[in-house]
Amino acid sequence: MLDGLVFVALFVIFGGGTLLAYWLAYASLPTFDEYRRRYPDLCKNGRCRCHSCGGDRVFLHTLDAFHRRHVCATCGTVLYRS
Ligand SMILES: [Zn+2]
Repeated sequence: MLDGLVFVALFVIFGGGTLLAYWLAYASLPTFDEYRRRYPDLCKNGRCRCHSCGGDRVFLHTLDAFHRRHVCATCGTVLYRS
């Protein structure tokens, strides 16, 4: 009985920590609007270039059903979230 509770407690602590780390990593990325404000010269006609290498090919990295990261296809820098 106690072992089961300890297991559940550990699962919640580590599971919650992983989830928290995931959210913090996600929330630390700028949104598209923030990226556009941060690098106005790189964003034209609703498209943004990479701030690191200047590449304009961006691919979508789907994290889950609601969250995506936009990643530079040339250098792999994570640009912004959506
Ligand atoms: Zn790049």
